[in-house]
Amino acid sequence: MTQQRSAAEIAERIATLRTAFAEQIPVQLDALRKLHADTAAAGWAREKVNQLIGRIHEFTGAATTFGFNHLGEASRALELGLRESLTEPGQSFAPARAEQVGAQLDALLALPVPDPAHLAPLLPPRLERVRTERAPGQRLIYLVDDNPLITDQLAEQVRYFGYEVTTFNRLDDFARAFRERPPAAVILDVEFPEEDDTGPSLFARLMYERGESTPAVFISSHDDIHARLAAARAGGNGYLLKPVIIGDLIDALDSILTTVPPMPYRVLIVDDSHAISQLYAGILEGAGMKVEVTTNPLAALDILAEFHPDLALIDLYMPDCSGQELATVIRQLDAYVGLPIVFLSAETDRKRQLTALQLGADDFLTKPVQPDFLIASVATRAERARQMRGLIHRDSLTGLLNHSSFLEAAHTELARARRNQVPMALAMVDLDHFKLVNDEHGHPAGDRVLRSVARQLRQRLRTVDVIGRYGGEEFAVIFTGTDSRTALRVLNSIREDFARVVHASSRGTFHVTFSAGIAGFPDFDELPKLIEAADRALYDAKSRGRNTAVLAAPLTSTPPAAPPVT
Ligand code: GH3
Ligand code: MG
Ligand code: MG
Repeated sequence: MTQQRSAAEIAERIATLRTAFAEQIPVQLDALRKLHADTAAAGWAREKVNQLIGRIHEFTGAATTFGFNHLGEASRALELGLRESLTEPGQSFAPARAEQVGAQLDALLALPVPDPAHLAPLLPPRLERVRTERAPGQRLIYLVDDNPLITDQLAEQVRYFGYEVTTFNRLDDFARAFRERPPAAVILDVEFPEEDDTGPSLFARLMYERGESTPAVFISSHDDIHARLAAARAGGNGYLLKPVIIGDLIDALDSILTTVPPMPYRVLIVDDSHAISQLYAGILEGAGMKVEVTTNPLAALDILAEFHPDLALIDLYMPDCSGQELATVIRQLDAYVGLPIVFLSAETDRKRQLTALQLGADDFLTKPVQPDFLIASVATRAERARQMRGLIHRDSLTGLLNHSSFLEAAHTELARARRNQVPMALAMVDLDHFKLVNDEHGHPAGDRVLRSVARQLRQRLRTVDVIGRYGGEEFAVIFTGTDSRTALRVLNSIREDFARVVHASSRGTFHVTFSAGIAGFPDFDELPKLIEAADRALYDAKSRGRNTAVLAAPLTSTPPAAPPVT
């Protein structure tokens, strides 16, 4: 996980990079002067001129990025002067041109190099964390209703989904506890007939006192607009009618308390300028992103495969391989068709930018990029790419990995377990007599049950575990770094809790159970074997009467007994 850097640290890092660049300026200008002399001596040969343009372009980008604006402008003028001389193919350099370019170079060389300490500070990035994480253990829910039967029953159900619940039947008890230890969320009844206050009005006061909002779901037996309005005005995130359907309540809690910690965006920066790539890396890391940097475009493919970025930021002009060439190569690889590519360049010519965009890039950022703008551009594109990927790889009913994505992930995890020599377990989970559920309660109720299984698996397992919807009412789980016995224990506890969940349909309430088969690595050392063994164990569980989990027996290493000789 990327270390979150403070604004001061980032500002300091930027200042250091800027000083380093300032010290390099005389060296770089001297190199430009020599290259210019060589180019003139070579009679302005085309490739020499191109090389010179490349070097000047790089200098323009760095100078403007670090805020040496006069140098950047003079350098850009020189670059344009050279480019204009090359517009006619095959046309050689007119002496008049050479003179003009010489004058532009002299103008650049004559400029004083300002002390970076006297320059305006580079815009310190507004360090908004693009994604924030909820502290672990933030699963405390306060459940408030004047009817103890309702609080007891709902609390029991909500706990099965891994929440910690404290119940209250009086508003003042709730208010006291809230002031002492605010919970992650509140489930609050609207009407308390024996008290002077209502749920929404007390809640609004508590929020005002605290100066910070706590998510709340209101529950009520009134479906009128006034009650709903009062709840919404008090800051309620949800409004559920009694009798509360537990699935709806968990859905509401889930949507306000994101339980999976959001992963920081991953960004790959490819820029041959060390200073610039470090600067951009610092800015993005400051916003909580995870960044890999390479100054070598030829190394980019290897890094892509290892690092799996959400977005690649690529410099357009690099010596060994241009940004356009690199983008073209990346786009030819199936695995990266969805990877957003953003070009970075000091290029201001819109026509040239458009040409670059036609080659498969998603956007074009012109150096110098303001830190805020860089962060925003990267974050929005990375987020969109993640959503798109999510849509492709996830099952729409449950949000779990679909069959093929699960297999892909299982493959990766098994390879990792083998490499690190750690155990791993695979479980197949199948709902019991699910056809009957559909027959008796209808397909929509069946769908709700499937979602509740998915939810419970997601909440009870660790984020490193992999969960997929393997088939209609069949789920599959990879327990990473876990032996099969431990996996069995965890799954059994989930199974027991799931069996107690009360599901509801218009036909009434009901319970559902599941059966599971578990097989472990290294007992089974290849994915097809693991799956087959877990499937067999699942079949066993079904024939033993269902609502049970069975461990696949490891294959004995002794060869099968030889057939009796007769
Ligand atoms: P067993 O305990 O032996 O697994 O019995 P079962 O009834 O669960 O097994 P069976 O394979 O006979 O039936 C599975 C049922 O699951 C049939 C199918 O209609 C239902 N099902 C599959 N996918 C979905 C879905 O997306 N939504 C709903 N509501 N039902 C589904
Ligand atoms: Mg079934
Ligand atoms: Mg089945």
